[in-house]
Formats: sequence, C-alpha cells, structure tokens
Amino acid sequence: MRESCFLIHRLQKGQVLQIPVSVTMAQVQYDCSRGNHPNVSNSTASPVGHEQIQLLLNVCKEAKKSAYCPYSHFPVGAALLTCDGKIFSGCNVENACYPLGICAERTAIQKAVSEGYVNFRAMAIASNTEDDFIVPCGACRQVMREFSRDWDIYMTKPDGTYIVKTLQELLPLSFGPEDLKKF
Ligand SMILES: [Zn+2]
Repeated sequence: MRESCFLIHRLQKGQVLQIPVSVTMAQVQYDCSRGNHPNVSNSTASPVGHEQIQLLLNVCKEAKKSAYCPYSHFPVGAALLTCDGKIFSGCNVENACYPLGICAERTAIQKAVSEGYVNFRAMAIASNTEDDFIVPCGACRQVMREFSRDWDIYMTKPDGTYIVKTLQELLPLSFGPEDLKKF
C-alpha cells in the first residue's frame, strides 16, 4: 500500500475526495458476497478498498486515451472491477452510423461478460469534462442493472476528484432479471 497517498481511508457515499495519481498495478481480492447476478441481494460486502479505488481511477483514465470518438470528440474511459478482482477497461467506440456507437461502460461490461465474468463490484468512469463529474447514460445504467443493482459507480473529473453512487441510487425503481420471474 502506498502511504504517500494524500487521503482517504474511509469512503462516504457521495463525498468528493481528492485522489492520488499513480498506483501499482495489481490484482485485488475481496469479499463480493452481495448482488451477484442474477439474484440481487442486500449489501453485505465491505466497501471497495482504497487501493482498488485508485487502481480503477487510473485504469479508466488510461482507457479514455483509446476512445474512438471522431464525431463527438468526447472521449470516455471506464474501468470495471469484477468480484474476482479482475479489471476490464473500456472506451467509447463511435460509428459513422451514429446509433451503432457504444459507450465506454458497456464496452467494459461486454469485454468482461465475453470472458466469463458476470459478477461486478465497481466501475469508474473518466472523461475530459472539467466542470462536472462524468455520469453514465440511461442505457448504460440499465445494462449495469442487468448484473446487480448493488455495486458502486465512481464518477470522476480530470482533476482526480470523484463522487460514488450505488447503481440503485443511479437507477431507482429499476427493472431487472428477477422481474421476469414474476410472470
Ligand atoms: Zn452510456
């Protein structure tokens, strides 16, 4: 653990925090007994650790550099943390046929699912927007919801600050896989 980092040992939801810029790349392991696909449960897991948060923030910032966005000129990067401690990155990929473009968040999710990972713990998102925290669009929130409503989304600014919300907070009263079982 890097003790030179300048804060955060306890994270409060919704709180804006300054974060350090560099971390050591390493896989992380932790309890992820909550919210696993397809059955959503109440939260029992410990918060995402300080090092994991830093890692996610760095990875999403790096992923942003790969964004293919010749039309919007709005690069976005995402970093998805699985319950196994694996991180998948993603960027937005646009297309001349505009509706075929895909957001960074969904790119990361599709990469993870295509490799057999469906239990997610957290995602961080980065853009170049300096005045506001980057937030996931409605479509991405619904795709995130498919896998759980109880995981953490870190929404950042380029200056290294962020806010964090659970998916339940970002998409309340949502429709998910378990709802199909009611019919
Ligand atoms: Zn989106």
